[in-house]
Amino acid sequence: MNSSDFDRHLRLELCWLDNFPTAASHAGQRQCRHCRRKWSYSVLRRQWLLAEEFCKGSTRRAAAVRANTDEHTAGRQYKRFQERLAVHFLEMVRKPDGGFKIDPLHVAEACKTAMKISEKQKRFRLLVDVCLGELTIENRLETIYRTVFHDHVQTLIRNAHQARIKRRLELL
Ligand SMILES: [Zn+2]
Repeated sequence: MNSSDFDRHLRLELCWLDNFPTAASHAGQRQCRHCRRKWSYSVLRRQWLLAEEFCKGSTRRAAAVRANTDEHTAGRQYKRFQERLAVHFLEMVRKPDGGFKIDPLHVAEACKTAMKISEKQKRFRLLVDVCLGELTIENRLETIYRTVFHDHVQTLIRNAHQARIKRRLELL
C-alpha cells in the first residue's frame, strides 16, 4: 500500500483486507460487505487530513479547521509528524535509500545546522522543513505515509488476518 491507496481507502471507506466497500454498522463503525470485518475510519482519517495539511505547510489552526478538530489535537499530531520525519531524515543521511529525490548532502547540511539548536522541537522543525522543502507534495505525502502510517495499517491488516484464521480454526 502507498499513500494514494491509503487515501483512497480512507475516502471511500474500503475494507483494509480485501478492498471491498463497507456499510454503516453500529457505534460509528463500518462493516465490509464481503468479509464482514468491522473497521473504524474516523481517527485515521482525521490524522491523515492533518498530515495532508502538514505537508502543504498549513498552520495548526488551518489544519484543525480542515480536519474538524481543535488546535491542540492538530498541534499534537504536528509534533508527532515532526519527530517521526526528523528520525527518518536523520537515518537517510546515514543510509540513503535512494527512494526519494533528496540530496543526501543537503540533508547532511541541514542536520549539521539543526544540531546546533539546543531546543529539541525547534531542531526537529528545522530539519523537517528543510527536507520537506526538497520534495514535491506527492513525495511529502508518500514520506509521511511511510514513516507515520504504514506500520499501523500493516498491523490492522495482520490482526484482521489472524482473527480470521483463529475463527476458522475454532470452526473446525
Ligand atoms: Zn473485507
